[in-house]
Amino acid sequence: MFVKIMRHQTKTFFTFKNVKISTRNISNRPDFTKNRYKITRGNYNYLHEEHIHYFQNLLGESRIVMDLSDLEKYNVDWFNQVRGCSSIVLKPKTTEEVSNILRFCDLNKLAVCPQGGNTSVLGGSVPVFDEVIISTELMNEIVDLDEHSGVITCQAGCILENIDNYLETKGLIVPLDLGAKGTCHIGGNVSTNAGGMRLIQFGNMHGNILGIEAVKANGDVVDCLSTLKKDNTGYHLKHLFIGSEGTLGFVTKVALQCPARPKFRNVAFLGLQNFVKVLKTFKLLRQRLAEILSAVEVIDTPTMEFIKNVNSQNSPIGEYPFYLMIETSGSNERHDEEKLSGFFEEAIHKGLVLNGIVANEPAKIQKIWSVRENIANGFKARGSKMLQYDISLPFKDYYNIMEPIREYTKDVSETVFGFGHMGDGNLHLQIILKSDVTEKIRSKINDFVFEKILELKGSISAEHGIGLLKAKYMDKIKPQSSIKLMKSVKKLMDPNGILNPYKVLL
Ligand SMILES: Cc1cc2nc3c(=O)[nH]c(=O)nc-3n(C[C@H](O)[C@H](O)[C@H](O)COP(=O)(O)OP(=O)(O)OC[C@H]3O[C@@H](n4cnc5c(N)ncnc54)[C@H](O)[C@@H]3O)c2cc1C
Repeated sequence: MFVKIMRHQTKTFFTFKNVKISTRNISNRPDFTKNRYKITRGNYNYLHEEHIHYFQNLLGESRIVMDLSDLEKYNVDWFNQVRGCSSIVLKPKTTEEVSNILRFCDLNKLAVCPQGGNTSVLGGSVPVFDEVIISTELMNEIVDLDEHSGVITCQAGCILENIDNYLETKGLIVPLDLGAKGTCHIGGNVSTNAGGMRLIQFGNMHGNILGIEAVKANGDVVDCLSTLKKDNTGYHLKHLFIGSEGTLGFVTKVALQCPARPKFRNVAFLGLQNFVKVLKTFKLLRQRLAEILSAVEVIDTPTMEFIKNVNSQNSPIGEYPFYLMIETSGSNERHDEEKLSGFFEEAIHKGLVLNGIVANEPAKIQKIWSVRENIANGFKARGSKMLQYDISLPFKDYYNIMEPIREYTKDVSETVFGFGHMGDGNLHLQIILKSDVTEKIRSKINDFVFEKILELKGSISAEHGIGLLKAKYMDKIKPQSSIKLMKSVKKLMDPNGILNPYKVLL
């Protein structure tokens, strides 16, 4: 029996059977992904009344979302690019509940979409069709902190910033920092192998996650929740879950090593004349600041114009072709300041830096950081009128990619700009389109950009993963031998393919 819900006041209509949804036109909402990308629904079951009864018995009604207007925020991504049509969100609190949900979905061939803070960039966190959304929203408990080793164990739904606030009271810091920290969940960070601003100092999730507890598609709990820094016993299975974007298992708990919180921070905002000087400055930064260098971000002129337009924020030092934002984090104020002023003297003496400011008070530091952190705010409104690329390139070609792309897209683009975690060779390249373009044109631009990246021996995804939007490029960017192995791992872990279908591997 199929369920049918009618809501008079909002004039919504819903049938699970046909996966047809008509809602009042919600402005600025993207098209349904399945229509836009012409995706064929996999051979999964539709949600029946008895399925809903099972979930209600397991979780109670208060932890299930089925109201259409409440569902919208789980069906649309943060960047307004993709839109699914799931009719149900489940909010487990425990590993056991996740296990029961997945076992039931697997037996009943119901596809699922794991969701954390829903801030992912490539459409990985929202369903394509009617997948059951399993949200970690209520899995938000800190389980343990070992203050000797600095290892924190917590549930997957803890918000990154909340973990950091807690760690601050213990003199520790979370070794990951990104613009979405107030919303993203640690389980999502692990599942995307998130990078962020401080990767240059602390490394990525593969290095910082000591243990993981995850649930396989069939409901089996995989306990790799070691909190040891050294544990060379057999295969390191935790790495399968790091960066696999919810396609191999549902992460329920993580153990994360957290360094001592640096006592002193300095943030500098520099103006530079050209990219050659940016590169030379970066080399000098690495040499002179070494272990206290905790962030190196670049911003080009068109990005600064975009920031000015959307956030009404100006460069704090006037206008220059390029800007570098650098941060030092250390434990000895005098030592750090000496290093920093040594760097400045040399950079100015060598004619690398034209102008700059430095801040060491928290409010001023935050003000400078906000220039960088608020860039993405302007993306939401652009939705599908924007193409965004998160790429890695060898330093010598880091900015060389911009010109050919500007030229190629000149008829359809309003602006093409680049900024990003330069210290890791990671560029966020954005194309703002004059108007929404057809899928054919979008595909042509993607092909061009990706070809250029591969030509320059870069990666088409530095830190955002593959999700839905890059899945069709996997065949082009990975050798067949790797794809084949990935597919057999997927088959082993999730034989019915219920975990986050249409994502990562097609
Ligand atoms: C303003 C802004 C700035 C950003 N800056 C950065 C940045 O600097 N660096 C960076 O790397 N990313 C950045 N991102 C992207 C995004 O924040 C990261 O990818 C983040 O790690 C996603 O976490 P989330 O909790 O929102 O996960 P979601 O978006 O909910 O999910 C991401 C993926 O992980 C899967 N997933 C989520 N939770 C689980 C789980 N418990 N088990 C299994 N699978 C799961 C989902 O199915 C999906 O495929 C930014 C995003 C925004 C909006």
